[in-house]
Amino acid sequence: MQNIAIYPGTFDPITFGHIDLIERASRMFDRLIVAIAANAKKQPVFSLDERVALAQQVLLHLPNVQVSGFATLLTDFAQQHGANIILRGLRAVSDFDYEFQLAGMNRRLAPHIESLFLMPAENYTYLSSSFVREIASLGGDVRQFVPEVVVKALSKKVIV
Ligand code: ADP
Repeated sequence: MQNIAIYPGTFDPITFGHIDLIERASRMFDRLIVAIAANAKKQPVFSLDERVALAQQVLLHLPNVQVSGFATLLTDFAQQHGANIILRGLRAVSDFDYEFQLAGMNRRLAPHIESLFLMPAENYTYLSSSFVREIASLGGDVRQFVPEVVVKALSKKVIV
């Protein structure tokens, strides 16, 4: 049996924390699909196409990782792709409540799909896309948090 994992998120934009998790997961599963949610409710700074393109560019070194946008129910998307695992990241205890609820709801919707959690390297535990956006919008240096293509993309965005 092949283990196909889905790693869903907004990735607005993708950070070294996400990439750390993706690299770990790419060593564990046969295939990993980074599933980028349209998530209009969150009013992302980058369009879905931009978020997908950025992720694709920074994940080229991982042949078993594929990037895909989606705007449907996660469990439906996972089933359409034959995925048996939903991967999420846990940075701190503060992530737990939301992730616990999400995993519980997803289990009710698709009982045969398991949610699995990975922790990033210690130096990424405080890193989030929202902080990166905020720092970049205030003219701060985000090179230690995101790859160069993302730094460039952030600098071109007028962040309000
Ligand atoms: P969402 O809007 O679904 O939370 P994110 O792009 O913010 O989307 O995060 C996607 C997943 O990646 C979540 O499980 C989140 O906990 C995890 N994640 C985000 N940043 C990091 C990080 N620095 N280290 C590890 N996991 C992370």
